[in-house]
Amino acid sequence: MNVLVLGSGQLAQMMALATKPLNIELRAYDVGSKQVINPLAQDQVFGDLASGIEYADFITAEFEHIEHDVLTLCEASGKLRPTSQSIKTGGDRRLEKQLLAQCQADNAQHIIVEDEQSFNAALKELQLPIILKSALAGYDGKGQWRLKSLDQAPSTWLEIADFFAGSTSEIPQGLVAEQMVPFDREVSLVGMRSATGEIKVYPLTENHHTDGVLSVSLALENEEKLQATALEVFTRLTNTLDYVGTLAIEFFQVGDKLLVNEIAPRVHNSGHWTQQGADTSQFENHIRAVCGLPLGGTELLRPTAMINILGEDSVENDILAIAGVAVHWYGKSKRPGRKMGHINVSANTQEQLQQKLVAVAALLPESAFSDIKAYISNLEC
Ligand code: ATP
Ligand code: MG
Repeated sequence: MNVLVLGSGQLAQMMALATKPLNIELRAYDVGSKQVINPLAQDQVFGDLASGIEYADFITAEFEHIEHDVLTLCEASGKLRPTSQSIKTGGDRRLEKQLLAQCQADNAQHIIVEDEQSFNAALKELQLPIILKSALAGYDGKGQWRLKSLDQAPSTWLEIADFFAGSTSEIPQGLVAEQMVPFDREVSLVGMRSATGEIKVYPLTENHHTDGVLSVSLALENEEKLQATALEVFTRLTNTLDYVGTLAIEFFQVGDKLLVNEIAPRVHNSGHWTQQGADTSQFENHIRAVCGLPLGGTELLRPTAMINILGEDSVENDILAIAGVAVHWYGKSKRPGRKMGHINVSANTQEQLQQKLVAVAALLPESAFSDIKAYISNLEC
């Protein structure tokens, strides 16, 4: 079977690695060069988008910010999964909010901002602090403003007006102004819906962010009630979208309530632990769903967590000497804060996982990992 993935980053790479044993050949469309390449040997170029569509039995995406005419062409071939509407919804916070309203999924109080008038309306109707998030092209906390006091409003609006003016998008840029949620913690649910409507989800994951970027994910156990709430939301959203593939939902947990932060119509960083912690990883299960194959097991096999490697291109080899540790590099060039790879840590018990995480953290450099180290040392697995 041949699959074309729109996007050629680490997610496409990990899909290719996961599905090679199933005899699935995967090629990736690089949105920058507009060429189809081998995601595991990026200098191997196969041709243009049309040739990629021709080659593929199925087409999917590794990220949601894809030009709409590319999605239209792929959808016209009848091979695209999930639908272009699902991908567009994940790529525009305004559509995302519409979907949440349609599915009656709880989320933060918000107002759409498209000009100075609606910016002022948001300040009036929402309580401070407020977070303003760009509707399009936001990721890893980029394109966001936080407003703690009204004194900041004029300068923030000037920055936003500049941001709107600089937009090169084919769709008008906008913002979602949201009330800041005083959450207890952030969790996410990663799961799959097959073409026949079967749904399987992994256990909820607790997520820690460093400077707005995901840095640690921990698979949760014994959270039956929360898990059931999250599954219900997942089911409503994916059924409404007639979704096929892996989808992630980021939540804010407030007491026993879950408010949806955002959805990602794709495999997700908070699901990387499934490579070592579940029978079938999110990457393999995504491609299985897309290709119409049965979904694999999603239960947590053993306590597992993931640490992102941000902005560093090497770690101490001694980390590999700790049993249950797997290091995954993406082969990207080094840039401050960039997601360069991740470390999965598995153990037999939660207590042992905590010990192993502490041992791994001790081998990571203070300079780049101080926040991650502090989080791990306070973890109560
Ligand atoms: P990513 O790509 O990492 O998922 P993103 O750029 O898509 O990030 P969000 O997930 O919406 O943006 O926001 C980034 C982080 O900012 C959240 O994980 C959360 O910590 C914080 N945040 C966002 N919205 C709110 C809110 N309404 N209340 C409190 N915190 C928020
Ligand atoms: Mg997010």
